[in-house]
Amino acid sequence: MASNTKSNGSAAPAINGAAYPITDHSYDVIVVGAGGAGLRATVGCSKAGLRTACISKVFPTRSHTVAAQGGVAASLANMGPDNWKWHMYDTVKGSDWLGDQDSIEYLCRNAPAAVYELEHWGVPFSRTEDGRIYQRPFGGMTTEFGNGPPALRTCAAADRTGHAMLHTLYGQALRHETEFFIEYFAIDIIMEDGRCRGVVCLKLDDGTIHRFRAQLVILATGGYGRAYFSATSAHTCTGDGNAMVLRAGLPLQDMEFVQFHPTGIYGAGCLITEGSRGEGGYLTNSEGERFMERYAPSVKDLAPRDIVSRSMTVEIREGRGVGKGKDHIHLHLEHLDPKVLHERLPGISESAKIFAGVDVTKAPIPVIPTAHYNMGGIPTNFHGEVVIKKGRNPDQVVPGLMAIGEAACVSVHGANRLGSNSLIDLVVFGRAAGLRAAELVTAGAKQAELPASSADLALSRLDGFRHAKGDISTAELRLRMQTVMQNNCAVYRTGATLDEGSKLIQEVWSAKDRISVTDRSLIWNSDLVETLEFDNLIVQAVVTMIGAANRTESRGAHAREDYPERDDVKWMKHTLASIDANARTVAIDYRPVHSQTMTNEMHSIEPKKRVY
Ligand SMILES: Cc1cc2nc3c(=O)[nH]c(=O)nc-3n(C[C@H](O)[C@H](O)[C@H](O)COP(=O)(O)OP(=O)(O)OC[C@H]3O[C@@H](n4cnc5c(N)ncnc54)[C@H](O)[C@@H]3O)c2cc1C
Repeated sequence: MASNTKSNGSAAPAINGAAYPITDHSYDVIVVGAGGAGLRATVGCSKAGLRTACISKVFPTRSHTVAAQGGVAASLANMGPDNWKWHMYDTVKGSDWLGDQDSIEYLCRNAPAAVYELEHWGVPFSRTEDGRIYQRPFGGMTTEFGNGPPALRTCAAADRTGHAMLHTLYGQALRHETEFFIEYFAIDIIMEDGRCRGVVCLKLDDGTIHRFRAQLVILATGGYGRAYFSATSAHTCTGDGNAMVLRAGLPLQDMEFVQFHPTGIYGAGCLITEGSRGEGGYLTNSEGERFMERYAPSVKDLAPRDIVSRSMTVEIREGRGVGKGKDHIHLHLEHLDPKVLHERLPGISESAKIFAGVDVTKAPIPVIPTAHYNMGGIPTNFHGEVVIKKGRNPDQVVPGLMAIGEAACVSVHGANRLGSNSLIDLVVFGRAAGLRAAELVTAGAKQAELPASSADLALSRLDGFRHAKGDISTAELRLRMQTVMQNNCAVYRTGATLDEGSKLIQEVWSAKDRISVTDRSLIWNSDLVETLEFDNLIVQAVVTMIGAANRTESRGAHAREDYPERDDVKWMKHTLASIDANARTVAIDYRPVHSQTMTNEMHSIEPKKRVY
């Protein structure tokens, strides 16, 4: 649509003497991110008749959603009794009572319709004998409000569910009048008087600068797993949208809650889905003992991820790890029927072969807890609108800005996400954002001109790194950051490791002034792009560490050895962390958890001790 775009060479700002000609674009809605969340929102906005552009730094079907394996949770009750209220109970309990119950109700109530929609759009789900969507058990998913046996709730397309979903969603987006801007790297959002007005991007293949103006910007940029040394996430998972929000002076929420997945392949970090335990796999220590029976007597290997990761860490620490260094654990699948492995777990059978050299029909897979998912992110309400705390209002909406998917903290996962609850979060809240956009945005409405200087901040940041002539490479600094996060802010934390970590991570943040970028080009300059990504990661690493140091309790994935108990009186609240990018300081505030539900069809779930 040429009418949305104009070349605006005359507005080329000169930064440090270098000219940066800008191409301007104007849309009703801009979605940044083409993973499951971004594509679902894009489809919704386009269907509502809004002129929508979707921007992605990688080709849409290479977004990390493509790697999701195990499945997507919804109480379809295809293979046993189920009910959205049980799903809600499990999610609140899984979140260790940090999740917002109105958002969780919205998620679980809308989950079945969202999965049927995916089915109708063409997702090739695995099937039961009678042709219904196949569902497997997953950690922490139970029946009868935690009193019944495990629920069969996780809908799966073998162990390639994310792949199936992402390709189907991309196909749907192409059916509508969406315009894609592929391999455009969003540098920063444009804020004017507290409203989001657009986004500034670098087009990676020709080095040109693009400024997008929109009535609404939806950030769907995914998580920041790459702040850690060993992560299951793709190299592109650098939380760029989160960092844009921090630089805009807005806070991020609950960043100290980082999920470690129990079964990353030892040494490689690639994921072996929890679905493998859902199909009957189990863990053993060096004595051949199925140790999960001691830690979670009723659900055992199907306990939530935080609990399994801690149990494995204790086993290793107490000298019962396997292997030469006694530093990992065994995951057994060799007792499963080869037909099940072939039909339901083909992808991980292949990964185990390639990355661990293991034939899963004959030997156990060496595994270790690995950074996997970020519960924290951009605070939003259940319509996807970004909220901040202002005066006495803890939920003031930021006009023109939404966030969805792993970038957002809506907060349905609270202190610990249950497996298969992210894929459903993407489509339920991606859809919700589209519905809200249709209410808020008038198709084709005239938009005020952007201020002439609106790209200056983004461009001076880009220019600064492009000409950075320091003495440390980006790769070296990134490794330092990842090592600090891995050593000081992992499965178990103490005041001492976190205080040391805070000091070390602040040092890495300071050292960014000494960064060296050798390639001055703007075209396909991976050194420059990785530097922008590092700069995004480091601010998230800092607020993660400081948030963790401040929270003196244990809740979900945040396990403090010096404060082993959950403290609802002092700590049943969300952390809000913001930065002053110039002074390099962090400010911490808190906001109450929404303990009330959305409707009165379901009562609030009162906090109690979380045992499985
Ligand atoms: C290996 C693995 C397996 C998983 N398995 C499951 C599972 O079975 N079930 C489940 O529920 N969850 C699973 N998860 C979690 C889940 O897959 C993710 O949380 C989810 O896919 C994130 O989706 P998203 O749409 O938010 O972001 P992503 O899919 O990460 O997409 C982010 C998008 O943002 C774009 N982007 C980012 N930065 C920029 C920028 N600066 N400029 C332009 N574009 C940008 C990217 O190009 C990309 O299109 C798994 C995660 C991993 C890593």
